[in-house]
Amino acid sequence: MADEQALRGGIDLGGTKIQTAIVGSGGDVVGQARHPTPTEGGPKDVAEAMAAALTEAAESADVKPSELVGVGVGSPGDTNEETGVVTNAGNLPDWSGSFPLGETLADSLGTHIRVGNDVDVATNAEFELGAGRPFKTVLGVFWGTGVGGGLILDGKRWLGRGAAGEIGHIVVVRGGARCPCGRKGCMEAYAGRGAMEAEARREHENGAKTKLFELMEEHGRDRLSSGIWERALDKDDPLAKKLIDRAYKALGAGVGSAVNLLDPEAIIFGGGMGTRFGEAGAERLAKNMHKHLFVDDRPPEIRVAELGDLGGAIGASLLFG
Ligand SMILES: [Zn+2]
Repeated sequence: MADEQALRGGIDLGGTKIQTAIVGSGGDVVGQARHPTPTEGGPKDVAEAMAAALTEAAESADVKPSELVGVGVGSPGDTNEETGVVTNAGNLPDWSGSFPLGETLADSLGTHIRVGNDVDVATNAEFELGAGRPFKTVLGVFWGTGVGGGLILDGKRWLGRGAAGEIGHIVVVRGGARCPCGRKGCMEAYAGRGAMEAEARREHENGAKTKLFELMEEHGRDRLSSGIWERALDKDDPLAKKLIDRAYKALGAGVGSAVNLLDPEAIIFGGGMGTRFGEAGAERLAKNMHKHLFVDDRPPEIRVAELGDLGGAIGASLLFG
């Protein structure tokens, strides 16, 4: 039986789902629950759903939330680890201002709360328990709706002044495509799944031939998920091939530039798209990155993230390490 005193909670707050886990001191998951993220209301409603999901995970581990050492949260947006305040979590309903997420959850769960950046805690989970274990300096690249980054430098999480690791907004084309962040030419404007879908819709409306949207409907989806992109590639869909090629080129330029700056031992390649394309995707990233490397005879290893869907929640629990 797990030592209840050593159990921690972790909450990964995503745009579509809230994944929670109860984690032992060795990183073992002893309980978990997943709830959809509310699409209406505001931060308060999201916080309520988070507390409910964490409580359910705790029940499945036979522990009360108040008995946990603490609960860590990986959140999108601008997260302040000191205060637990989250600002401008753009993908979440009505969350453009600041909200005291840590304080609110501490009240409802009756335990200590620490709030970190979602990609940063997922990178740390891979560093401590997953694909990054053999290394001291790693760069996490999480390719999903956007492209998130996390940094471990010489064994320590590197947050800068709180906003480090925003690799998706490295500029790969000056004055280029409009990024979901509002700026131009960011890596995410070409490689983010959200931006890729917007471009696919534009080109499809302008007459480009593609099965992407048929496949989406066939599989009952309302967006171009990583699985839909993969199926379209398997069918040699010309538009899917073109946009995926374009995404890898942008990833290669952006990640290559980050490598020139940091010289990490390894890159952890994760996120919905990164995990979906797995080893083959890691190879394509390596190839596209290589041409941008200033020192090109010892490129960093690219390892696919190992912890899957639970990585974010496990990483959040490690905020109580
Ligand atoms: Zn941007």
